[in-house]
Amino acid sequence: MSAAVPIRYVIRPARPEAHLFEVSCTVAQPDAAGQRFSLPAWIPGSYMIREFARNIVSLRAEAGGKPVKLEKLDKHSWRAAPVAAGKALTLHYEVYAWDLSVRAAHLDQTHGFFNGTSVFLAVEGQVDAPCLVDIQPPPATAAKGWKVATALPRAAGERGAAKAYGFGLYRAANYDELIDHPVEMGRYTLAHFEAGGVRHDIVLTGRHDCDTARLARDLERVCNWQIELFGAPTPMDYYAFLTLIVGDGYGGLEHRASTALIASRGDLPWPGMKGLPDGYKTFLGLCSHEYFHTWNVKRIKPAAFTPYDLAQENYTRLLWAFEGFTSYYDDLALVRSGVLPAEDYLGLLGKTVSAVLRGSGRLKQSVAESSFDAWTKYYRQDENAPNAIVSYYAKGSLIALALDLQLREASAGKRSLDDVMRLLWQRHGRTGAGVAEDGIYAAVAEIGGDALAAWLRKTVEGTDDLPLARLLKGFGVGYKAEAASAAPVLGAKLAGSGEVKLANVYDGGAAQAAGLSAGDVLVAVDGLKAGSVAAVEAMLARRQPGERVELHAFRRDELMRFELTLAAAPAESIKLTLADKPTPAARRLRKGWLGA
Ligand SMILES: [Zn+2]
Repeated sequence: MSAAVPIRYVIRPARPEAHLFEVSCTVAQPDAAGQRFSLPAWIPGSYMIREFARNIVSLRAEAGGKPVKLEKLDKHSWRAAPVAAGKALTLHYEVYAWDLSVRAAHLDQTHGFFNGTSVFLAVEGQVDAPCLVDIQPPPATAAKGWKVATALPRAAGERGAAKAYGFGLYRAANYDELIDHPVEMGRYTLAHFEAGGVRHDIVLTGRHDCDTARLARDLERVCNWQIELFGAPTPMDYYAFLTLIVGDGYGGLEHRASTALIASRGDLPWPGMKGLPDGYKTFLGLCSHEYFHTWNVKRIKPAAFTPYDLAQENYTRLLWAFEGFTSYYDDLALVRSGVLPAEDYLGLLGKTVSAVLRGSGRLKQSVAESSFDAWTKYYRQDENAPNAIVSYYAKGSLIALALDLQLREASAGKRSLDDVMRLLWQRHGRTGAGVAEDGIYAAVAEIGGDALAAWLRKTVEGTDDLPLARLLKGFGVGYKAEAASAAPVLGAKLAGSGEVKLANVYDGGAAQAAGLSAGDVLVAVDGLKAGSVAAVEAMLARRQPGERVELHAFRRDELMRFELTLAAAPAESIKLTLADKPTPAARRLRKGWLGA
C-alpha cells in the first residue's frame, strides 16, 4: 500500500428515538481483490466475547454512486466486490445503540455515547492507516445545547475540524487509537482540574446534584499521587472522566486518555456533604481504579495484548496483576493522597479480605487460571460461581498487598511494590514491549529477590490463603476474624423482592446438605410464610446452630419439603484496625505504607 490515505468515518446520531447511529466509512484505496471489513467481537478491558456486529441493522456499499455487492463472511466480517481502480469505496450502515453500559453504545433524546468498537468497522489491511472521524450533531429538534466530550484529538488543520467540545472532524493515528477514545455527546456538566500539568475534565451526563468543586479537588489529589508514583511526564496530554449518572448503577472501563463510567447519583458528593460517605468512597475508588489503568494495562500490557486480536479471545494468565494490582492501588491511592483516612482504608480492605474468604472457589481455582478463563468464567458467572471461581480482582489485590508488605518488611521500608510498578513502567510501559507470562515474577525478583518471586509464583499458581494476619501485625494493623452475625445460617445467599429465592447455595453448607438448590423459591420456614429475606433472617435470629428447621420451597412448579440443620455463621468477616501500641518498627513501616 502506498502512503496511507486516511480512512474517513462519519457518525451521526440520526434517530435518537429509534436509538440508531448512522455511520459511513470511506476507503480511498480499497483492496483490489475485494475490501474486507470487520467489527471487533470484544472491547479491550472487558474480557468477554460480545459480538458487537449483532447491532448493525443495515449495511450497504457504494463506489462512484453505484451500489457494490457485499458478502457476509462470518458473524462480524464482510467483503465488498472489487471496485474499479482509483474509485473510493463507501460503506453505509446503522448501529442500534441501546446498551446502558460503558462497553457499547447508547443513544436517546437525552444523550449519545459510543465506543469505537461498537460503531467503526475496521478496514482490514489498513488498520495502521490514520483515521478522520466527522462527529455530526443529532437532528435539529434534539440538538439544542449538545456538546461533544472525548479524548479523541480534534483534527486541527483539516477543513471542518471540531472546535473544543464541538461537533466536527476528529482524528486518530490508526484504528487501535480510534477505538480507544469513547465519545459522549449531550447536555453534560463539565468540571476540570490540572494534574501533572495536564488538563483533566470531569464530564457528568444525567440528572445530578453533584458538588463538582469537591469532586475535582479530591480527584486532583488522587491523580497527582498516581502521576508521582510513576514519575512525570504523564503518558497522556489530556484526560477525561466520562460519567453517566443513573439512579442505580456502577461500572467503569479504562482507555488510554479517558475512562467511561456509570455511577449512582447518590454516590456523588453533594453541596454541604459531611465526611466521606460510603457511596462517595465507592465512586472515588472507581475513578482511581480506571485512572491507574492509564499506566497498568493501557501501556504496561500483557504480551498477549500486543497487539489485541479483536476477532477472538486473547488469553493471558496475568489479569491478577493488571486488574488485581490496579484494585490494590485504587483505594491505596485514596489513603496515600490524603483523601481517605487510614481507618476507613482498613475498613475497605477488611471487606475485600472477607469477600475472598467467603467463596470456596478460591480453594479450587488459582488467580492465574481465573485470569485465563475470564472469558468463560469470571465474566459469565452463574449461580455456582462462589463455589467454582476466585476473583482475580479481589484475590489479585490481596496478593499485591502481601507482596507490598513483604517488600517493605524485608527492606525496612526502603523498597515496596511501587518500585515494581516503576520498573514495569520503565521496561514495558514506556517502550511498548509486552509483559511475558512470567514477566511479573522477573520484575519482583529484580526488586525483592528470588525467594519472594518464588513465593509469588506459588501463590499465583496455587490456591493457598494469604498470610495476611501475620504480615499486617508487622505493620501495626490488627486482624480479627468474626462471624458476620450471631444468628445461624442456611449456607445459601437469599435474594429477591416479592419472593425469597436462593441465589447461591454454598458448597458444603447446610442448604446443600438438605438438598436445596440455587433457584429454589423458599415459601415457608417451620410452616410460617417466608415473605421476605428480612422475615427469614428475623426467624433465623431466634434460633441456635444445630437446631433443625423444616423448609418448603418451589423448584420449578413443584412444592418440595426439606429438613435442614442450621449451622453457625463462619468467622469470615474480617475487621482490620490500627493497633494502639505498635512496636516502633511496626509504626515506621505503617507510616511508610499508609502515612498513619
Ligand atoms: Zn480494572
